[in-house]
Amino acid sequence: MEPGPEADFVSRLFDVIVVGGGAAGACTAALMATGSRRVGLLDIRTPQRPDAEKDIDPRVAAISPGSRNILIAAGAWPLLDGKRIGSYDRMRVVSGRHSIDFRASDHGLSQLGWILEIPAVERALWDALEARGQVEFLTGHRLASMGSRAGELRLHLDDGSRVDTRLLVAADGGQSRVRREAGIETDTWHYNQSAIVAHLETEQPNQGLAWQRFTDSGPLALLPLPGGRSSLVWSVPAQMAAELTSGAEEQFLETVYAAAGESFGRITGTSRRMSFPLVRRQARSLTAPGLALVGDAARTVHPLAGQGLNLGLADAAALAEEFEPWRPGGDTAAPLQRYKRWRTSSGSLLAGGIHGINELFNSSLPGLKNLAGVGMTLSGFAWPVRDAFARRAAGMDGDSPRIARTPDPEATGDVEGKPGPGTGP
Ligand SMILES: Cc1cc2nc3c(=O)[nH]c(=O)nc-3n(C[C@H](O)[C@H](O)[C@H](O)COP(=O)(O)OP(=O)(O)OC[C@H]3O[C@@H](n4cnc5c(N)ncnc54)[C@H](O)[C@@H]3O)c2cc1C
Repeated sequence: MEPGPEADFVSRLFDVIVVGGGAAGACTAALMATGSRRVGLLDIRTPQRPDAEKDIDPRVAAISPGSRNILIAAGAWPLLDGKRIGSYDRMRVVSGRHSIDFRASDHGLSQLGWILEIPAVERALWDALEARGQVEFLTGHRLASMGSRAGELRLHLDDGSRVDTRLLVAADGGQSRVRREAGIETDTWHYNQSAIVAHLETEQPNQGLAWQRFTDSGPLALLPLPGGRSSLVWSVPAQMAAELTSGAEEQFLETVYAAAGESFGRITGTSRRMSFPLVRRQARSLTAPGLALVGDAARTVHPLAGQGLNLGLADAAALAEEFEPWRPGGDTAAPLQRYKRWRTSSGSLLAGGIHGINELFNSSLPGLKNLAGVGMTLSGFAWPVRDAFARRAAGMDGDSPRIARTPDPEATGDVEGKPGPGTGP
């Protein structure tokens, strides 16, 4: 079905409406659209198709093998342009003189992750939705307010029209309007840090290594892009981020080089620089009657572990799994309760862990920083701990949704697992 503001809501009652067509929302719509369910996707905007002639977007995310499996199930992975995807089969985390190394082959994986442009992921999901034709696009509309009516939720849109739904999914990002309308409060932590992102050229090309160092200013990651470049994600105090993104390019390259050290040699060039303020936000409840929160609407996390989008995709898959036996008109309370229990525990564990690591490494107490270093060395020796950590980071441990745990398609030679139409990593 062609998306467009002219979409006419013939009957106003939907089984599922997802508000927010970012990656988490579009993926939820794709996975929830099974059987005879009537599913709608509401967003004010339509994601743009990436321009093959233009450089890779600075907004990239590291996607785990579990998330790749979810994108395959949603039909989006084969629609991504492989020529614009970076991949890594090795990871190194450095703190002071300590480091931990991970290799995909040690954990039965072909890759530890992929670096994808977020707008391209969104567009591929929308293309998959259009191709499957099971979801109605309510595009060009913004949710203005909502209420409930006879066991259904009623959404009032900004053009004065309204739609009703049996199940509502809030995927409208960190500032979620749905969450606010539902009266769900959040716990918020302002880090007073911003993440600087840019694509860097280095003397030595990056060949498949995700590299991270805890610098004095904050965690700095260099993630592999096609052509040997690296995507920089460096979380630093907000004032420093403003200076580094608006200041002279040479000064920027020198400062990053001084912080990153010799691993890739000198930094010889950069793309456009951007920065994002960092806020940790956790909704006090992931559900309300007839409502589930997914993605950034449920929580936002520090980017040091590159898990925000991975958590959102896992939310989408977990919700679809809990609603698998659900028929329109059936009870939503029990599957919502199970979803809430599941995603509250795994999401909070990860978000809390990421937050704790950031606090530990940013501590001004040298003893605490040292402790973090010692912990890293110990985990270097404790193989079961490292394996468990790697499987969790891969989004494929026992707590992950079923479709995320599908065996590595590269290992099984499944063609669906290959991105196209580019050559692929
Ligand atoms: C610097 C940085 C680096 C990151 N790196 C990684 C990484 O390496 N790996 C990773 O997994 N994650 C990473 N993330 C996190 C990731 O980018 C986000 O978690 C993810 O993009 C959020 O997706 P979402 O679909 O939940 O929300 P969004 O992308 O915010 O989508 C929300 C959608 O809702 C729509 N909307 C909002 N309000 C309304 C309304 N009232 N009515 C209708 N529609 C509405 C918007 O138009 C939008 O399309 C990073 C984030 C930052 C800042």
